[in-house]
Parts: sequence; structure tokens; C-alpha cells
Amino acid sequence: MRDTRNYTIGLDIRGESVRLGILGTQVEPVWRGSAELKQNDPYGSFASIREALEDAGRRYPLGQIGIASEGMINMTEGTLRHPAFGEEPFPLREALSEAMGMPVWLDGPSFASMMAEWTSGACKGMDNALYLEIGDTVTGAMVTEGTLCRGKSGSAGALGHIITHAGGKECECGMRGCLNAYANINVLGEMCSRAPEAVMLLASDGDRSMRDMEHRYLSELAEGLSGLVAIFDPQAIVLGGFITRGGRYMLETLHRVLEEKAPAYMDGELLITYARHRVDGRVIGAAALADYYIPEEEDDEE
Ligand SMILES: [Zn+2]
Repeated sequence: MRDTRNYTIGLDIRGESVRLGILGTQVEPVWRGSAELKQNDPYGSFASIREALEDAGRRYPLGQIGIASEGMINMTEGTLRHPAFGEEPFPLREALSEAMGMPVWLDGPSFASMMAEWTSGACKGMDNALYLEIGDTVTGAMVTEGTLCRGKSGSAGALGHIITHAGGKECECGMRGCLNAYANINVLGEMCSRAPEAVMLLASDGDRSMRDMEHRYLSELAEGLSGLVAIFDPQAIVLGGFITRGGRYMLETLHRVLEEKAPAYMDGELLITYARHRVDGRVIGAAALADYYIPEEEDDEE
């Protein structure tokens, strides 16, 4: 349990902007802030984050910091490779911990989103659940047997890189035929030469040809999901990111497609749903990761 004298602050680093949120005992942040980073300016970017944290610390007593960041994270070293921090891996975890005098947890965005959904969202308290974020890329994280699944280097859960088309399209990860290359949301737009959001909107409104296109796209997504369902036997698949704009029609279609594709694994108990936390998800999850991983300090006072 979080000591209410000490709040946890969550940071969500995307591109050049940072969202901050202070988490107390409620689900939603009690305070929100932001910071701007500069391209290729490690010390300027660091100073900007530090300033925002110091500002937050004047409002609420902070005990620990959780960070969810895009870019490449080395979990062992606590370093981040990100355009705002220059070419070299930046030792963000240690540097911030030293500057702020408190422990820091640095992690990837998918783990933060999964954590937010697992602690207070769509798959709250479930022992087995998958989270897939579907936007420009397909990423993910999973909870298996009541534990956030990490793997040997801490980066398990790259659910977008299961192969759905052997020898198929080249994926950004260097492999061929990954789900990511066939089911990222831009594929839906390319199928119809329209913005993905427009396709989803028209499909929801009943446009026949857009519904056909959306069905085709969801069949690609279901190729991957059916394999994941067979492997993990989850209680829930939580979808986050851009795809949540598809609304109820898209979710129902996906459910139907999956039932056609993998009847043996669709037992009627599998929940397929959108993430509860949208804008604040990574901030809430980053703080929850810090609470989850950073051991509670022994309280010697009295
Ligand atoms: Zn891949």
C-alpha cells in the first residue's frame, strides 16, 4: 500500500512532450503537469524534466517516480535512447534518482498501459490478460499467472511481432510477416485510401464498403489474436491506442471475426474490450509500475 504521506509521480514521455501526474490513493491523478523536451539536447531535456518534478514536489510530498518512455530502454542499465536525449543512451534513471533524492522506475509505454489497466482499468485484478496497443505500430504486454510477464531482459510482450504471414511483408523489427506489419492502424487507412479514423467513423455509421474494409483489416488482426488466445488462454484482451476510436461496432466485429477464426478457443468467457484509461493511461501506469517494483522503505520513525 502506498503511504499517503508520499505520493508517486508518473511521467509519460512521447516525442518532445512529457505528461506528468501525481497519484495518491485515487485512481485518477490528483495533479497533472507537463514539460517540453528539445531535440538532441540531453542536458536541456533533463533539466526540463527535473524542473517539472521539482514543481510537482512543491505541491505534494513525492516518494518515488515512475517513467514510461518511448525510445529504447535498457532495463539493467536504466538508460534511455530517445531523440531528445541525443545519440547515446542517457542514464535517466540514476541521474533523476540522484537529482530528486528518491527511487525511479524507468519502463516502456506498453508495460505502463498494461499496468494501468491491470491495477484500475479494464482487466483489473485478473490473473491472465493481454494488452495490445494498436496505432502506428502494434505493441503489447501481458499478465500471466498474476504477474507482469517480463522475460530475461525485461522486454517480453512484443505481441505485435508474432508471425502471421510467413515470409510476408518486412517489419520494422527486421523480421518478415509480423502482425505489426499487417494490423497497425495505418493498414486500415491504406486499404481504403482514407484516414483510418474516417474509415472507422463511416463503418460505424453503416457504410457498406467501409464495413467490408474494416472486416478485412480486423481479419488480419484476428490472425494474430487467435494465436495469442491459444497460447495464453487469457481472461481478457484489452485494446488500447488509436483503435479505441473504432467504437462499439469495431469491437463487436472483431469479436465475431475471432469466433469464426478460432472457435475452439473462444469459449464465451473471453472479454475483448477497450482500455479504460486513455489520455492518462501511461501516467497512471508509470506510477503504478513504480509502486509495483520499488520496495517499500522501512519506516524507522517511532
Ligand atoms: Zn516485427
